[in-house]
Amino acid sequence: EENLLEIHNLKTYYPVKGGFFKRTVANVKAVDDVTFEIKKGETLGLVGESGCGKSTIGRTILRLLNPTDGKILFDGQDITALRGKNLREARQDFQMVFQDPYASLNPMQMVGDIVSEPIRNYTGKSVKELKGEVMQLLNRVGLPEDAYYKYAHEFSGGQRQRIGIARALALKPKLIVADEPVSALDVSVQSQVLNLLKELQEDFDLTYLFIAHDLSVVKHMSDRIGVMYLGNLVEIADKKSMYAEPLHPYTQALISAIPEADPKKKKDRIVLQGDVPSPINPPSGCPFHTRCPMAKADCSKIKPALKEVKPGHSVACILYE
Ligand code: SF4
Ligand code: MG
Repeated sequence: EENLLEIHNLKTYYPVKGGFFKRTVANVKAVDDVTFEIKKGETLGLVGESGCGKSTIGRTILRLLNPTDGKILFDGQDITALRGKNLREARQDFQMVFQDPYASLNPMQMVGDIVSEPIRNYTGKSVKELKGEVMQLLNRVGLPEDAYYKYAHEFSGGQRQRIGIARALALKPKLIVADEPVSALDVSVQSQVLNLLKELQEDFDLTYLFIAHDLSVVKHMSDRIGVMYLGNLVEIADKKSMYAEPLHPYTQALISAIPEADPKKKKDRIVLQGDVPSPINPPSGCPFHTRCPMAKADCSKIKPALKEVKPGHSVACILYE
């Protein structure tokens, strides 16, 4: 299978300004040396606690943020440093579905205008010319025909997310980064929106980077799963291998926290002590050592590299070196 996206040693740091001259006094290492690839047509789920850098990775891949270092290859093209016209051109192929459909749509804009906007921007076509196409899209994401003339504020959260999805699809992108697309929605509509995303993946030949903090949502959606901690990718594997045999102590803790209905399958919950340390001043050695139940003396000295320990299953932990 061909890779649609590859990121190599990607770093995205945010400067922290301080003092009278507002100099950069520190860096938030939001994404710190992350490498992975996504194959054409697959869904890579990215999980981790809030602040672990998953959204920053998504935004850097879409080039909404500039990477500090590393490389982003999209469909064979190096997009790491694209600017201006070239970036605009490339952007047609990758779109984002945002977490909060309330914040990401203008409530006073007509739905027909919202969904047609990307096509109008790129093709110069008029709203009128695009009406048929937009109607079709609205229909495809499960909105009523008359939605076209309504305003975003007239819709429920789930319906607004469908509008956001229709807008993301308007330019027929190859990759969609979905950043916690259902976490702001009522539980009752979450699975409908997730199932819609799955259907659209088939119909539109889409590849997904699916970001979530909820491991059960990711399990439902993904072919492979990456686990992030404090800006680092600590484990990546296909879904089956990840849930059957999580290797990293952090992944083991996350999986042990998933509610399990079947008492025979229930494992003891691993409760982590302490908070996630600050990404401004991350711990030395393994970033997880301050909370790891398995930590040894060396863990605060040596930063383990991500290493493939079984086919397709990689982990960054000295227990497997
Ligand atoms: Fe835990 Fe050490 Fe492995 Fe880090 S390297 S996850 S601290 S055992
Ligand atoms: Mg986020």
